[in-house]
Amino acid sequence: MKDIVFISDLHLMPERPQTMKLFSRFVDQIAADADALYILGDFLEVWWGDDDPATSYTDVFTSLTSLSQTHNTQVYLMHGNRDFMIGNVLAERCNFEIITDPHKIEIQEKSALLMHGDTLCTDDIEYQKFRQMVRSEEWQQQFLRKTLEERFQIARSIREQSQQSTKQKDEYIMDVNQDETDKAFLDNDTRLIIHGHTHRPAIHHKIVNNIDTTRIVLGDWHDTGSYLRICDSSDYKLQTFS
Ligand code: MN
Repeated sequence: MKDIVFISDLHLMPERPQTMKLFSRFVDQIAADADALYILGDFLEVWWGDDDPATSYTDVFTSLTSLSQTHNTQVYLMHGNRDFMIGNVLAERCNFEIITDPHKIEIQEKSALLMHGDTLCTDDIEYQKFRQMVRSEEWQQQFLRKTLEERFQIARSIREQSQQSTKQKDEYIMDVNQDETDKAFLDNDTRLIIHGHTHRPAIHHKIVNNIDTTRIVLGDWHDTGSYLRICDSSDYKLQTFS
């Protein structure tokens, strides 16, 4: 039986050094013992391109790299809505594999679907439009042609705008759409979905078309970390780390 750990929404940034240190401790104390670590998006609060040496992230990147190189833990990273510019250069630098959203894996011999979670929030039409734009090859190529400083400013203003508009949106708009999650279970022929993004950690059981489904929502990180560990046939449990 494989021992797999899932995290998301760490939103690491130099302005929050305690969360960056928490991640390094988490690597040593929890993730190092696992066979695989899946980071399901928003590992970084913002990312503007792999050509930045990003020296303020050195400790975090060293920790991440140590997982595969020292502890034999395979690391998989999915993009979130904040760090979708993480590319192959950083992946090589830190020795992780970028996985697409959604991504199907086998857990306990059953299929599970991994997602960041933002694609399930279809009530947020404004965000879905924005997502389509910034995830396009064209937008990203244009963005990467700008100087690092320009990109840094754009990334910052996108982040500020997102924080502003989030404040004005109703709670339900920021959560997943139920029809969309039902559809994700049925379309992907799976009974288990693991995602983050909404910062509403919970384990939801629901019957969809006479099938028992489980949707695990990972929590975000601040003073404490949040993770899911699956290592035997016991029930799924979200855990905290501090
Ligand atoms: Mn997110």
